[in-house]
Amino acid sequence: MKTLVFLEDHEGKLQKDSLGVLSKAASLDGEVEAVLLGTQVAGLAGEAARFGAARVHVMEDVLLAKPLPQPRIDALETLVGERGFDTILFAATVLSADIAAGLAARLDAGLNWDLTDFVVEDGKLVGKRPALGDSVYVDVGWTSEPRLALIRSGTFEPEARADAGDAEVETFESRLQDFSLAAEMVEQAHEESEGPSIEDADVIVAGGRGLGSPENFALVEELAKALGGAVAATRAVVDAGWYPYAAQVGQTGKTVSPKLYIACGISGAIQHKVGMQSSGLIVAINKDPNAPIFEYADLGVVGDLHEVVPKLTELVRQRKAA
Ligand SMILES: Cc1cc2nc3c(=O)[nH]c(=O)nc-3n(C[C@H](O)[C@H](O)[C@H](O)COP(=O)(O)OP(=O)(O)OC[C@H]3O[C@@H](n4cnc5c(N)ncnc54)[C@H](O)[C@@H]3O)c2cc1C
Repeated sequence: MKTLVFLEDHEGKLQKDSLGVLSKAASLDGEVEAVLLGTQVAGLAGEAARFGAARVHVMEDVLLAKPLPQPRIDALETLVGERGFDTILFAATVLSADIAAGLAARLDAGLNWDLTDFVVEDGKLVGKRPALGDSVYVDVGWTSEPRLALIRSGTFEPEARADAGDAEVETFESRLQDFSLAAEMVEQAHEESEGPSIEDADVIVAGGRGLGSPENFALVEELAKALGGAVAATRAVVDAGWYPYAAQVGQTGKTVSPKLYIACGISGAIQHKVGMQSSGLIVAINKDPNAPIFEYADLGVVGDLHEVVPKLTELVRQRKAA
């Protein structure tokens, strides 16, 4: 297997999910290489090597400065044509999903998306993917090469390799098509936020409809702050406009796997569960002892969150101060 992993960077840092996919690919047999596209990205090659890339292909061009898919599709088409990769992997993001779909069309290749694992079985690459509202897992394959795959966000933890050497860096060039340069990025805004993002956080405190009002998200935010964690939300409260979509966890939101997930006023519907079930320790605070979340929580507190959460926050603050 000769695998290429597309690495996405933001503000000079490689995305955690990209490194997770790279680590996983490197844990399988075969050659694993990575590609960096942008301006001033060559400096990230060492990091890519640490997480398993034997060789890093780099294309730097001012026309790749903005996170737009089309020029990247041109560059990847050139690279794959020159180097003959049989597998091309992407960690799913808005940008990489566009790139993967465009590249699949250019190469007339098959793209499997939303994979939560990939393994080699009987010498063949097999993707694992949730289906039917995440209630079952199915095996998916490819009928031709190259095989393209998008991996669900939060699926793999990046694991640095003890045996990692220096990166072999190779620069390449690609002609960018006129039509690929037609789109312009007019504005890019960043949401103001404090603390870690929910994809990166070791601790997540999540709020649901049980909070009763958007103002009560302050309770969840205070606890998250005390624990140095991030705030997440259910779809019910996002749909109600209580909290931004970026914080939504679940089937139609993000998949997270923190060490600790504290669910406050969340019933634990299957569509929420699929986004957080791989968390290390799940703590649920709910006033209904029959809430489904207690079926899979490691620790359950039956009580009114308006009483429990502020006390918990106070306790955490006291312990930290001690
Ligand atoms: C196609 C599809 C996709 C979906 N995608 C997602 C998704 O990505 N993410 C997601 O989260 N949902 C998703 N949903 C919605 C999901 O089915 C649930 O409706 C949703 O998760 C419920 O959110 P909730 O737990 O906040 O609200 P509820 O189900 O209303 O639960 C509120 C809970 O708070 C408890 N409570 C109330 N007051 C208190 C109190 N004072 N103290 C303590 N506990 C209290 C209640 O006992 C209850 O268990 C999806 C649904 C569909 C059909």
